Amino acid sequence: MQAFYSAKHKTMIPTAFAYKRAHSVEEALSLLAAHGEEAKILAGGHSLIPALKLRLNQPEMLIDIARIPALRYIRQAGDHIAIGAATTHDDIAQSDLLQKQQPIYPQAAKLIGDIQVRNRGTLGGSIAHADPSADWPAVLLATDAQVVIQSAQGERVVGAADFFTGFYSTALEAGELVTEIQVPLLPPGTKASYQKFMQPASRFAIVGCAAVVTQSGGTCSRVRVAFTGLSDAAFRDQAVESALTGKAAGADEVAAAAQTAGQDVMVLADHFASEDYRLHLARVIAKRALTEATH
Ligand SMILES: Cc1cc2nc3c(=O)[nH]c(=O)nc-3n(C[C@H](O)[C@H](O)[C@H](O)COP(=O)(O)OP(=O)(O)OC[C@H]3O[C@@H](n4cnc5c(N)ncnc54)[C@H](O)[C@@H]3O)c2cc1C
Repeated sequence: MQAFYSAKHKTMIPTAFAYKRAHSVEEALSLLAAHGEEAKILAGGHSLIPALKLRLNQPEMLIDIARIPALRYIRQAGDHIAIGAATTHDDIAQSDLLQKQQPIYPQAAKLIGDIQVRNRGTLGGSIAHADPSADWPAVLLATDAQVVIQSAQGERVVGAADFFTGFYSTALEAGELVTEIQVPLLPPGTKASYQKFMQPASRFAIVGCAAVVTQSGGTCSRVRVAFTGLSDAAFRDQAVESALTGKAAGADEVAAAAQTAGQDVMVLADHFASEDYRLHLARVIAKRALTEATH
């Protein structure tokens, strides 16, 4: 039986690796520095473990950060909310502070996967993995979030727009750890919404749209619209943003702005949705997100 399993299903078994549980950020950083590109951070494991089983990744060492208390928190820090990288999707879904100050975060968190995924998967792991269908990248882009990155050499802070660099790729370098996500408080008169059309089994976004709109003097003075699932990486859609900025938030204006979605990107096509269908979904989803963010 074992021989049959190994021969027929060897891609379901990861290559051998060493495992080390880090008890502090400093320990994780020094392990990363010592093992360089041979090491991989393990957080919730909900993206990494499947990748190991498929042998898409073959690290020599896993550094487990899931039980470092100093990486799991949600707190207000002056003009922003600070979220530790190992904070789970469910922590975010249940956060009273975020519900009050940045309700788009719990709204998006509740739409991720199922309860097991939300209990294990982390915000830092999701953004480091940068799946083109993941929900968080769109939310971070639309809320102008910043990503705090540490290594043995020190700390740097990267805006979400510079962090997500392409298909499963980010600004992270070897030896670096995402430690915190900083979300600015919403300006007065601002509402936000995250909407998605989900793949029915995994609940990953076929298309997801995050909209953040500030209204003042009867018009939309500041508009942020970001998509996930629509192209090879999450992106802010400047065409939709410009189409609504300076306009009243009426149904016609919102519908017209949503109709400009996706015109500047290469739209993905796969077995879940053709290019035309995905673009259609993006415009429907954008209208829903903008409507909720303006009423
Ligand atoms: C059945 C299923 C359904 C899902 N549905 C959705 C969904 O609807 N929407 C959605 O957005 N996602 C979904 N996911 C993905 C889920 O959100 C994952 O938890 C997430 O993508 C990865 O987070 P993690 O903590 O599990 O990271 P891991 O799997 O542990 O790590 C992922 C990658 O990030 C790296 N990494 C992890 N933490 C850090 C860090 N702090 N600094 C640097 N690198 C780090 C790892 O080395 C690895 O390369 C689903 C997953 C499954 C299995």
